[in-house]
Amino acid sequence: MSTFKHLYKSVTDEKHGHKLEEGLEKVRSKDPEENHLSCLLHPEERISSLKEKEVFMKEAMDDPEFTKDLKLTIDLLQNHKGPVYALVAPAYIGQFGDHITTGQIRSAFKEMGFTGMVEVAVFADILTFKEALEFHDNIKDENDFQLTSCCCPVWISLIKKHFPKIVSHIPPAVSPMIACGRVAKHLQPDAATIFIGPCMAKKMEAKEEDIKDAIDCVLTFQETEQLFEKMSIVLENQIESIRNHTSYAGRIYARTGGVSKAVEMTIKRIDPNQKIKFKAKQADGVMECKKLLEELLEGKVEANFYEGMGCQGGCVGGPKRIISTEKGKENVEEYAKEAEFETPLDNPYVIELLHVLGFKTVKDFVENSKLLTRKFT
Ligand code: SF4
Repeated sequence: MSTFKHLYKSVTDEKHGHKLEEGLEKVRSKDPEENHLSCLLHPEERISSLKEKEVFMKEAMDDPEFTKDLKLTIDLLQNHKGPVYALVAPAYIGQFGDHITTGQIRSAFKEMGFTGMVEVAVFADILTFKEALEFHDNIKDENDFQLTSCCCPVWISLIKKHFPKIVSHIPPAVSPMIACGRVAKHLQPDAATIFIGPCMAKKMEAKEEDIKDAIDCVLTFQETEQLFEKMSIVLENQIESIRNHTSYAGRIYARTGGVSKAVEMTIKRIDPNQKIKFKAKQADGVMECKKLLEELLEGKVEANFYEGMGCQGGCVGGPKRIISTEKGKENVEEYAKEAEFETPLDNPYVIELLHVLGFKTVKDFVENSKLLTRKFT
């Protein structure tokens, strides 16, 4: 039974290995300047600025412009006893202003009373790793194919409702949003989790029976912007609090083709001599996804990895984005290029999280994870 240690040893050269060791030292530190996931692993007591804003609270609760999810967020920030996390979708880069940095957004959430901000891209990293291992194990000949389980609830429900014959080709994994919420609650059992993204379908996904334990509330980028405004949070004035806990692979999930590229890069690291070459096909927009799945059902298997995104352009084109799809894609690409790590296999945060979650072997991680697994029927 292969352990992670064996796997890393077999795929890591001297240069990568040295960097990884350095990274792991930082991850194990309790100092937030060193350990960029310290809010999740060693949270400090949060200070809710809402406690002093009684007038705002009253006005907010009576404000007809405030959605029920905004009111729930305010209530959690004011009254929840444990940590409250902002879990931000990979598409968030540049959504709140061209020159607003990820570090300023983190500080703004803290000023609002959140314990910390976690980039869901670190769980895109973890699930990319899982999908890559599943591809490596399951795709044995030219007729095999895998449908990505990652990320888009519209893609998943399209397959479940209209293409049940090929449901078995989806690996049994939850989305990065659900993985992030579950892990936060596993590490901090009294935590509340608020997912922030461009998507309306995520509000429904969070309530699905078998996964409703992960996320307490879903806000869109537009709702979040409204909250910043109403609470007079000025993003430009926030201090920098940059954290790098995601790899290039996890950061590109936000645009069409990102999941495929991330899985391809990771497979190449796991097994550069893979006999069956990775070949991906993507569709974005509901009609295109449907067309792709119909072709598959008719037996036109032209690739071995299929990715579908309900929105044109992927999540950067989500219905509740603030900036244009093109600008969102540009921002995501730029941010991905700045990542310190290339793939989940180079990311010490992925390794440490898998260690903290108790996965000892690769088989354990792929097959026996209650936190990361979901059965599709
Ligand atoms: S592609 Fe659209 S529907 Fe799918 S997760 Fe992203 S924003 Fe939501």
